[in-house]
Amino acid sequence: NVGAEVKLIDLNKKYGETKALDHLSCEFHRGEMIVLLGPSGCGKTTALRALTGLMQVDSGQIIVNGRDITMMNPAKRNMAMVFQQYSLFPNMTVQENVEFGLRVRKMPVEQRTRKAREALEMVGLADQASKYTHQMSGGQQQRVALARALVLRPEVLALDEPLSALDAKVRVQLREEIRRLQQQTGSTALFVTHDQEEALAVADRIGVMKDGKLQQLAEPWRIYNEPANEFVATFIGESSRIPAVIRDGVALVGDQQVPVLGTSSKRSNGKATILVRPEAVQLQLAVEETRNAENCGTVKEIQFLGSTAKIQVEMVSGTALTAQINPSEAMVLVPGQRVSIQIEPKAVLAV
Ligand code: ADP
Ligand code: MG
Repeated sequence: NVGAEVKLIDLNKKYGETKALDHLSCEFHRGEMIVLLGPSGCGKTTALRALTGLMQVDSGQIIVNGRDITMMNPAKRNMAMVFQQYSLFPNMTVQENVEFGLRVRKMPVEQRTRKAREALEMVGLADQASKYTHQMSGGQQQRVALARALVLRPEVLALDEPLSALDAKVRVQLREEIRRLQQQTGSTALFVTHDQEEALAVADRIGVMKDGKLQQLAEPWRIYNEPANEFVATFIGESSRIPAVIRDGVALVGDQQVPVLGTSSKRSNGKATILVRPEAVQLQLAVEETRNAENCGTVKEIQFLGSTAKIQVEMVSGTALTAQINPSEAMVLVPGQRVSIQIEPKAVLAV
């Protein structure tokens, strides 16, 4: 198990007036994969470049296995990187590309040949060793880049949007493989992406960033179910905004009481908007006369998505709502139909 324990402490970096990193702090456990997730320009690459030493921060510290490496030369850090644009050497074979880092480290020929072979085997390219990279697909080239990184047995594996240039299907395959290899080798990993599904799929913990600031650092399920703020809630997953009244940690929506979760449960009483995940909304066909108008609406659109169905509902109040339900339940719905809604007490954030 080679993975390092990493601490980023209060990192700051400005480009002119832009705060690329704004008091960024984050601890990586040994062998953990942390995914930094956020929109373009939020500082993900800057954080990765700070960690790997490609860039100097204005202030803050980087501690690896208890040692302050903030000023250490990148070549001396036991870290390896994978980028979006493979960055392979076109005039070298696959084998030579993978061996390159070992050659720089002056490893004897026989040993480095063997290690490169092993790395190529790990990524399923053992039979492609003598090819040149331009003869390969994007997915294969990224596997070579991955082998070239893993062959170094890095304490830290840093991946900057490694899948963004690939087709959807290859992207899904390769993310699972990256995850498997990272766990197998035990490297601590920083994986940068703007793709929320990718982040949820591979992360031990996700750090959501905006404007150089870490918004929340938590396990994928917690990020989804207990988002720290509105930005996190809307950046990851879908949600509908529903007017409500908050009273002592409970949201009143018409005649329904819905507990609000996490930090927003401490919100003060009064009018608010609650965010509700589509799967927390249930639809009832029989609209009881006793139900409050705020709990009733009309089916606008029905979308079958195979294993689930999405229903757009316009509430009597005018609010648009998305419900994700079982396809068998959706079969009895038609546009224009009156329904009443039931909100399950989960995934609700008050803003
Ligand atoms: P991300 O990787 O999340 O898209 P970056 O870390 O690349 O974001 O950039 C964060 C912010 O810093 C952006 O506003 C970007 O324009 C700015 N920035 C990054 N690198 C430089 C640079 N070398 N010179 C000037 N501005 C930069
Ligand atoms: Mg970037």
